[in-house]
Amino acid sequence: MTFKDLGLSNSLLKAIEKKGYTQPSPIQEKAIPQVLQRKDVLASAQTGTGKTAGFVLPILELLSTETFKRPQVRALILTPTRELAAQIQQNVKEYSLFLDLKSTVIYGGVNQKPQVATLKQGVDILIATPGRLIDLNNQGFINLKKIELFVLDEADRMLDMGFVRDIQRIMAILPEKRQNLLFSATFSKEIKKLANGILTQPVMVEATPENTTVEVIKQRVIRMDKPRKTAYTIKIISEGDWQQVLIFTRTKHGANKLTEKLNNKKISAMAIHGNKSQNHRTKALAQFKKGEVRVLVATDIAARGIDIPLLPHVINYEIPNISEDYVHRIGRTGRAGANGVAISLVDNDELAYIRDIEKLTKQKFEKEIIEGYEPPHIDESQIKKPKGNPGQTRGRNSRNPNSKPGNKKHYYQKKSKGRG
Ligand code: AMP
Repeated sequence: MTFKDLGLSNSLLKAIEKKGYTQPSPIQEKAIPQVLQRKDVLASAQTGTGKTAGFVLPILELLSTETFKRPQVRALILTPTRELAAQIQQNVKEYSLFLDLKSTVIYGGVNQKPQVATLKQGVDILIATPGRLIDLNNQGFINLKKIELFVLDEADRMLDMGFVRDIQRIMAILPEKRQNLLFSATFSKEIKKLANGILTQPVMVEATPENTTVEVIKQRVIRMDKPRKTAYTIKIISEGDWQQVLIFTRTKHGANKLTEKLNNKKISAMAIHGNKSQNHRTKALAQFKKGEVRVLVATDIAARGIDIPLLPHVINYEIPNISEDYVHRIGRTGRAGANGVAISLVDNDELAYIRDIEKLTKQKFEKEIIEGYEPPHIDESQIKKPKGNPGQTRGRNSRNPNSKPGNKKHYYQKKSKGRG
């Protein structure tokens, strides 16, 4: 199957060639023809599957083949995080290089003036996070009356981040007759309810088990003495001469502390988390991508959706208390066919989290122990979940693995294959 077979026109094929893609990913193969046929689509796909091109390419195709008059926004792509919004915009720009279409991105945390100025010039495609969209709409800077295409990206994360009301508010502004695409990595009851309210007779598409992205991720789980985690992290990065490492912590404080320690050891590192300004986050990500910074230390929310191609190493310095965050974390590596290793450093307090992850992902990890870094001995049958777990507030129930469609199972089962 080629991109041409999918029904994309020459201007898009040229841009795709320029990006270096030789063939469509499974989700693209399935989603693109459906979108081109003007169908509503409910897609099960996570970051790393090529889902962005899966909706951006057909949207560009549709918009470019129909006559229209700017300055009305005709396609709205709603996404939960600023980073993701910026990345989608980058993709839209690259794919529309040879088309006469304008796009822009709006998100909070930065001055609204430049965003308003661009909107005033007229755009065809608007990429937005919910808060800023509502804000600018309330101020009368956006006209969403002509929206023909609406994309809700990372719907599960939207709900986790508490955007459900905002989404409803936005839906109420959009015209009733429109084409809708909803992308989500998981399908809880809440997502299904949300989807029912947005989509009309949707076609379901999902990334297939053949998806190489997940298959090639090697997962290592190492039992570790908590106070020795930093030393071990420094050791593997130095000894392996790793040049691009993404490290996850559970807390902002933990991210800051580790970043400082790495820098003290002359391993250049920057942290991204909710307390860092948008400018800092953008700068950190850009420097990391360019290879000017070796390590990016991130919390889960900050890292969601970040597109770092060919990332070889991910370290879970702290294990997430929300099991699905583990899946998203390791999805940062082995993207689009590249090999990757995800290493989880598990101290005794985190064994309960690992057990939850094993349950969700339907795999049993082989837990390595490394001489000099062993945790104190404990009776594993006595492991209890820590009390007052802050992650519980992020809709743990919505992450019930039993409420997922078949494809998620494939993902996880494939992942366990690559374990070693
Ligand atoms: P996404 O899942 O949209 O975040 O995409 C993950 C990564 O895969 C991005 O770096 C894309 O540029 C890349 N990508 C998307 N489609 C393809 C394709 N057909 N072939 C190779 N790489 C791709």
